[in-house]
Amino acid sequence: MNLSYWEYKTWLSNIDFTIVGSGIVGLNTAMSLSTRFPQAKVLILEKGTLPQGASTKNAGFACFGSISEVLSDLKTHSEKEVYELVQKRFDGIKLLRQNLGDSAIDFKQLGGHELFLEKQVQLFEECDEKTASINKLLQPIFNAEAFRRTPNTFCFNGVNEHYITNTFEAQIDTGKMMASLLKNVRQRGVRILNAVAVESFADNGASVKIKTNQFEFTSKKLLLATNGFAKELVGEDVHPARAQVLITKPIENLRIKGTFHFDEGYYYFRNIDDRILFGGGRNLDFETEETAEFGQTVVVQNNLKSLLHETVLPNTPFELDSNWSGIMGIGSKKRPIVKQLSSNVFCGIRLGGMGIAIGSSVGNELAELV
Ligand SMILES: Cc1cc2nc3c(=O)[nH]c(=O)nc-3n(C[C@H](O)[C@H](O)[C@H](O)COP(=O)(O)OP(=O)(O)OC[C@H]3O[C@@H](n4cnc5c(N)ncnc54)[C@H](O)[C@@H]3O)c2cc1C
Repeated sequence: MNLSYWEYKTWLSNIDFTIVGSGIVGLNTAMSLSTRFPQAKVLILEKGTLPQGASTKNAGFACFGSISEVLSDLKTHSEKEVYELVQKRFDGIKLLRQNLGDSAIDFKQLGGHELFLEKQVQLFEECDEKTASINKLLQPIFNAEAFRRTPNTFCFNGVNEHYITNTFEAQIDTGKMMASLLKNVRQRGVRILNAVAVESFADNGASVKIKTNQFEFTSKKLLLATNGFAKELVGEDVHPARAQVLITKPIENLRIKGTFHFDEGYYYFRNIDDRILFGGGRNLDFETEETAEFGQTVVVQNNLKSLLHETVLPNTPFELDSNWSGIMGIGSKKRPIVKQLSSNVFCGIRLGGMGIAIGSSVGNELAELV
């Protein structure tokens, strides 16, 4: 499609910063750039009609990592790296709350609980036994003992009689968070063009030529915040990872409140608007779920449904309302990749399953690279 003279002049000329992706990272990058350079022309290109990756699809856990996740990370990362991961999540949640305010994101610190299936006696015992040493490791971050054992007061079925709880964990309303970020960014004069997919780019040292599915134009700098789709544009260590979620219809007198994980974080659920949102099961079929295509599979959906019936809501009648999926970016390390790729091109990608927690700081770090 040929754009008019007016369209080029008004929307696509003299662009200082082009951000690709309007997820939590892209929007925070825009906020940060517009604070540092109030006169700059900042443009966001987003391929979806709404942000279309993970930021509007997630479960809304403001979490730091369950105890078994921390222990599992310690097997593949150094103690210093694990400490820094948790610190990053803690600082990121603080920043998100400061930027948007608790009521705008419906921040509720109801605690996060890790459940252990009955067959996971050994894992529970290991986590229980190591709680004290993990609390000691993370003490400087939380300024308190983060993890403790609590009884199964919500009467989940087929699980150990105790959870291991992190009292600092919270839940947010994902939709409200994203709406608030979008509003904030637009109020700063940042333009967002939806339904525009970046197909390629070329950095000539002075500026970057950007080709999209609609038009071509030039920007002084290009910042990629495309997370699970990053492989389509750059050769970094990041792969797509699909995550499937379902939600029930409202349930009368629902007692369950908080955020819950089990199976080393592969399953997660929470209350929202008298419903249960339940996601996970990627570990049932890693190969199929390593995709940037949205969609549901019978194997994961059936597993989620049966766990919901048998474990989460064993004595409560409920009906399912809907299901969806989102795409995350993962790699061999959990640390995000925030770096300069060439003179004028930068990226902030590989956010994995903790983007709510770290997205605000990753956006800031990406903006600070220019
Ligand atoms: C089901 C699910 C549950 C989750 N639950 C939680 C949770 O409870 N807590 C938590 O902390 N994290 C959770 N996460 C992870 C979290 O949502 C992500 O880490 C985070 O949203 C990543 O943000 P982002 O901005 O980097 O990427 P995204 O939100 O994916 O944004 C990238 C954007 O780039 C756009 N894009 C990609 N390629 C192009 C292109 N070529 N041109 C134009 N636009 C492009 C995409 O459309 C997308 O909107 C969950 C993720 C999923 C999928």
